[in-house]
Amino acid sequence: MKSSRRVAIRLAVLAALAFLPFLGGAQAPPAHATAHLVILNANVHTVDRSKPEAQALAVVGERIAAIGTDQEIRAWIGPQTKVIDAHGASVLPGFNDSHVHFVDGSMALSQVQLGDATTREEFTRRVAAYAHTLMKGEWVLGGGWDHEKFPGATMPTREWIDAVTGDAPAWIDRYDGHMGLANSAALRLAGIDRNTPDPPGGAILRDAQGNPTGALKDAAAGLVERLIPSPTEEQLTHAIHAGLAEARRCGLTSVQDISHAEELRVYQKLLAAGELTARIYAITPIQQYEFQVRAGISAAFGNDWIRTGALKGFADGSLGSTTALFFEPYNDAPTTRGLFNAMMLPEGHMLQMAQPADAAGLQIAIHAIGDRANHEILAMYEEIARRSGPGPVRGRRWRIEHVQHLRPSDYEAFARLGVIASMQPYHAIDDGRWAEKRIGHERARSSYAWRSLLDHHARLAFGTDWPVAPLDPILGLYAAVTRATLDGKNPGGWIPEQKITLAEAIEAYTLGSAYAEFTDDQKGSLTPGKLADIVVLDADLFHLPPAEIKNAKVAATIVAGKLVYSASK
Ligand SMILES: [Zn+2]
Repeated sequence: MKSSRRVAIRLAVLAALAFLPFLGGAQAPPAHATAHLVILNANVHTVDRSKPEAQALAVVGERIAAIGTDQEIRAWIGPQTKVIDAHGASVLPGFNDSHVHFVDGSMALSQVQLGDATTREEFTRRVAAYAHTLMKGEWVLGGGWDHEKFPGATMPTREWIDAVTGDAPAWIDRYDGHMGLANSAALRLAGIDRNTPDPPGGAILRDAQGNPTGALKDAAAGLVERLIPSPTEEQLTHAIHAGLAEARRCGLTSVQDISHAEELRVYQKLLAAGELTARIYAITPIQQYEFQVRAGISAAFGNDWIRTGALKGFADGSLGSTTALFFEPYNDAPTTRGLFNAMMLPEGHMLQMAQPADAAGLQIAIHAIGDRANHEILAMYEEIARRSGPGPVRGRRWRIEHVQHLRPSDYEAFARLGVIASMQPYHAIDDGRWAEKRIGHERARSSYAWRSLLDHHARLAFGTDWPVAPLDPILGLYAAVTRATLDGKNPGGWIPEQKITLAEAIEAYTLGSAYAEFTDDQKGSLTPGKLADIVVLDADLFHLPPAEIKNAKVAATIVAGKLVYSASK
């Protein structure tokens, strides 16, 4: 009797504690530490090995204060606390896109979009409709076309758009940005005619009579692109506003922007106005390295919101444009192995930029797609390491961007040299539709080799290359775990042995990307003390069949402890 009465009293006290959490209890924090934001009833996947899973978390100010059970975290709720019920869905660290052309993507939101055009008629119709909205003298810009989607994989020519663009110059990019279509007016402005030679690192496509068709690859595209007027600061600001809204909708709290540099001013203005809702790491063109060296900027210079100090260069082109550089010829174009980017020419030119930049503490990130391009950049990093002494210098974190096609003998170099593989999983399910036509099955087996790279202890960072691919990280997770190509022809996965687990894919998209920008001590996992950049989904990804992951949506996005997007509003 006596003992059962004691039990009853203890139960009553426990119940009271649950309602009045600040009165006591071992887990309860001091009364002043109430949370601004609490998320309950979640499947929290922390990406923190010391506490991988939890039910709930609490945020104080800009940072994560506690991770735990619903009961533990309820103790942080005070009168001012915003409480989010996740309804059992996944809560993850905010996504960090390690490779995004944020301004190009943002600008593209208001230009002609041809990503899903599958016929010449549709192509022409959309360009016509867009050209109609422009003022006299304005360029007709935009793109996203992919000739692989047209009947017979027909390459578009200037005849497709000349009649609907008239005297207005037009430059319509292929989706990978390594080729574009100029109309006759743009070719005239650029002075490109049948007598113009192909520039080094580029190609001018020509018809049977030798006249330019309007399609220009890599360095040849530059002949037209350099004529396009830069957007005004007002146009840039307007576009970046739209891009940030898209990022919030996608649960992106950090983006690593392959930047033109001039938009840094716009980011600073937005930050001052309290309107920047994604953290920016600006990766600027390597050709401008001397400026940063002289200014004393080194990797990860800046604050929690805007940082810079990484330099981007190009080793080659793209697979779709047959400009990615391979050791062996293309199966469907046996006269070519691809092209070095002009920055690689003459031999040693990239090293001449990268080495002094590295010595000054700047981060180097080089685009390499073909197996030979990757091999050459790994060899360049090895040479820099040899010249500047063994061991990591200033904790350098070299990167290769894309890393799409590798020789298996090069897997080990990534971990050995400390080179981050910054990759875009969506490209695999997109290119996977036709990659074997270009490079055959054997080379495809070590393409997008996420499993092999992880097995060789390489670090992965994931992103999209937006606007080359959709900005949505959930599609990237889906691509990494399924490798199911967009044409539905590989439901079990294209080269399925290179699939990785959902947890590995999420880590690459959060902590891996944070590592790639020197911020893994501040973000990338849901760890007390780290920045409260969080995404709440509308489903529990770990309990979905892999094929359904792509249907999950972002329910809420939180940056620096602030709710910046909610699907229900
Ligand atoms: Zn890119």
